[in-house]
Order: sequence, then C-alpha cells, then structure tokens
Amino acid sequence: IMEKKNIATRRAHCLVLAYPAYGHINPMLQLSKVLLREGVRVTFVTTIFYANIVQKVPPPITLETISDGFDEVGYTGAASHKEYTEKFCEVGSLTFAELLEKHGRSEDDRVDCVIYDSFFPWALDVAKRFEIVSAAYLTQNMTVNSIYYHAQMGKLQVPLKQDEISLPTLPKLQPQDLPTFFLTYEKQPFLLPFLLDQFSNINKADWILCNTLYDMDKEIVDGFKEIWPKFRCIGPNIPSFFLDEQYEDDQDYGVTELKRDECIEWLDDKPKDSVVYVSFGSIASFEKEQMEEIACCLKECSHYFLWVVRKSEEANLPKGFEKKTEKGFVVTWCSQLKVLAHEAIGCFVTHCGWNSTLETLCLGVPTIAIPFWSDQSTNAKLMEDVWKMGIRAPFDEKKVVRREALKHCIREIMENEKGNELKNNANQWRTLAVKAVKSGGSSHKSILEFVNSFFH
Ligand code: UDP
Repeated sequence: IMEKKNIATRRAHCLVLAYPAYGHINPMLQLSKVLLREGVRVTFVTTIFYANIVQKVPPPITLETISDGFDEVGYTGAASHKEYTEKFCEVGSLTFAELLEKHGRSEDDRVDCVIYDSFFPWALDVAKRFEIVSAAYLTQNMTVNSIYYHAQMGKLQVPLKQDEISLPTLPKLQPQDLPTFFLTYEKQPFLLPFLLDQFSNINKADWILCNTLYDMDKEIVDGFKEIWPKFRCIGPNIPSFFLDEQYEDDQDYGVTELKRDECIEWLDDKPKDSVVYVSFGSIASFEKEQMEEIACCLKECSHYFLWVVRKSEEANLPKGFEKKTEKGFVVTWCSQLKVLAHEAIGCFVTHCGWNSTLETLCLGVPTIAIPFWSDQSTNAKLMEDVWKMGIRAPFDEKKVVRREALKHCIREIMENEKGNELKNNANQWRTLAVKAVKSGGSSHKSILEFVNSFFH
C-alpha cells in the first residue's frame, strides 16, 4: 500500500537546463517558478562556473550542475567561441548524461521531462538516449527564430546577396535588420552556424516552447504550428510580481550582483517619468567612442539619468565622469525590473536584448534602441516598426550614435507627444502580456497543456 501511495503522490519532475548567461538563466528560472506552481518538481541545471554566480535558486527548486569544460573561469577560458562551444558539447554531453543517469537510479528521482535551452541541441540527443520527454526552450523572439530556422533550411543564402529579405510570415527586412551574425559572417564564420544549429535536430523535440506571447507573433506562430504541432508560446517569463501580481511575494528578480536599493532610493525622490534609464544588458561592450557620446549626451541633456555601466566597461567612461550627482547615477548593476517598474522612469535606452525588450514592454516603458549585436538589431526594428513602442537611435557612418542624435531621441520621448503615444502602445502590450499569463490566458493554458502531458 505504501508503495502504491508513493507512486500516486509522486510529483512530475522537470529538469530545466539553462545556457550560462543572464539572458538565459533569468527567463528559465521564471519558467521554473511557473512549473513549480503547477505542482511540478524542478531541478535547475547550469554550468559549474555559472552556478557559482547564481549561488541559489528559489526553493524548493534545486540547483545542480553540468560542466562546460571551463569550471574555473567559464567562457573566458576558451580561446574562441568555437573552442568553447565544441568543448561544451563534448564535456556537457557527458556530464549531462551522468546527471540523468544519477536521477534515473530511483523511481522517486526519475526525470519526466527535460526542458533544454535551444542553444544546446546536443542536450536533446542526450535526453532522447534516455528516452525522456524533451522540450526545446527558445529564448529569442519568433521573428529571430524564424530567420534562423529559414537560414538553417537553406532559404537564406550567406553571405547575403539580397538588399531586401522576404521570408514567410515576416515583415520585409533590410540586411541591417537581421541578426548581426549574417553581416559579420565573413569575419566570424562560427557564430551564425552556432545559432542555426538550434534548429538542426529540433524536429525530434516533443515540445517547443518560446518565451513570447501569442499576441505578439500570431502569424509566425500559426505558421510554425503547422511545422511543429507541439509548438507553444508560454511567455513572458517574468516574475509574477511585475505582471499579474498573482504571487505578491514573487519579488526575486533573477540573477543580480548588486546593491539593489541604492538605485531605488535615488529614484524615489525623482518626479514621475523624469528619469532616463540606460542599460545595455550583461554582455554588450561598446567602444570608447560610443561610450563617450552617450556620456556627453547624458551630461548635457536636461533630464535625470540612471546608467548601468558594468565593471568591465568602466574604463571606457570619459575621464572624470562623475558617478553620482543630483542629476545622474552610474551603477555597475541594478535590479532592472524594479527600476523599470519605478514611476520615475520615463524611458529606457536599451541594447534590445530580448529579455530587456520583454521587460520594458511588460512595464509599459517606451524605448530608445542602440542595438549592439546578435538578435538586438532585429528586436530594435520590431520595437519601432511592428510593436511601435520605441524608436531606433540613428547610427552615423562609423556605426556610432552621436550625442546630438541621442539627445534628439530623448527629447522626442521625454518632452513630446511621441513619448505618450509609445507609452500607450507599450501599455497595451503590457495588458496583453498580463492577460496571457493569468489563469485562462493563452500562455497559462499552454503551460497547463504541457505539464499535463507528462503528469500522469
Ligand atoms: N539585468 C539586470 N540588471 C542590469 C542589467 C541587466 O537585472 O543592470 C538583467 C535584465 O533585467 C535581463 C538580463 O539581465 O533580464 C539581460 O538580458 P537581455 O536579454 O536583455 O540581454 P543580454 O544580457 O543577454 O545581452
């Protein structure tokens, strides 16, 4: 009887495998919390090096590790992205198999489903060997995924020959709107294949989940559902606290390294919509010249600013640039969601990483885009022309946004009617995002369908 009871009450066990970067760990942790609320036991897995940065995950989620082959230093230990990826595939496959094997030893501990970051196509092969249900998790948006998918299928020739790119269900795109790896292919031939590889074996996945909401990408999603019947949008994977407020205590904002409240204290005495928030995520690294233009713009323009300059970028600030004045505050990291949710924030100068894009949209903050690389130029294009919640700052011929150009964009949003229009649009997206994750919403229904598929 005891044994039967145990089996009957055994909770489904999901293993969530995240790529070692903030932009991947944050949304996958949020997804883990969603699964937890639906009664699933979650083991969160990333590399040994990154687990040391993350340190803890919200209980009762447990944190386990695999190895990328660079346990002490992570990515920077490899001579190139190619070397890192190859080593990761080799050592990662082995250590991931060991982990699944360990969990397979007892019925109670067995893994029912692996959700793997699509940046690890090899994880699908490993999970299949163990005959475990597998779900690919796409951390980028559907336009970007669609571009890579079509390129993987040979429908987009590289190096690019066309001036205008037409792909099924996508708006017409200029070469500069594509992920940058198409344009830098000749200089860095390894990065594009790495991203295309996400789609090399994805047809074998039992589910394909994407961190977006159906309403943002209807046509593309409907198109993909014909190719992948088990494709579902389950986003935005953002803490409930900032969305539907269903779980009020859900105030952990992902991975942060910081003194959180100093920023918030500084914002607290600023008037509503008066501060320009500037941040380029966890990886982007602008040249000194670009940093100087941004610094001079912020210093000269009449609005308050909060600027995240990571430690590794500080040397590129102009000499003597003051880090904390009545008008401006430069921090090395902040709790971005808490900042974006603050009333004082009037606009967000962003690199348009997909998480930052979703976060600003969910908090109704209009944007000024300065994309750095990867999918960011595509996100910036969509933000301006499709979702209409931001503007792109113009680059000059040296691919630098000059101070006057940025000042003009800031004035446009902070002082003119354009700002209200973009804010209203962003707020409409926010409403749809909240609706999607609430009980009965499209993303919530998809999560239930997914969870129920391996629950019994
Ligand atoms: N982030 C943060 N504080 C910062 C800068 C970034 O919490 O000072 C978070 C941000 O909220 C987002 C993630 O780090 O969740 C960055 O992901 P994104 O996809 O925007 O950019 P990436 O870092 O991958 O380029």
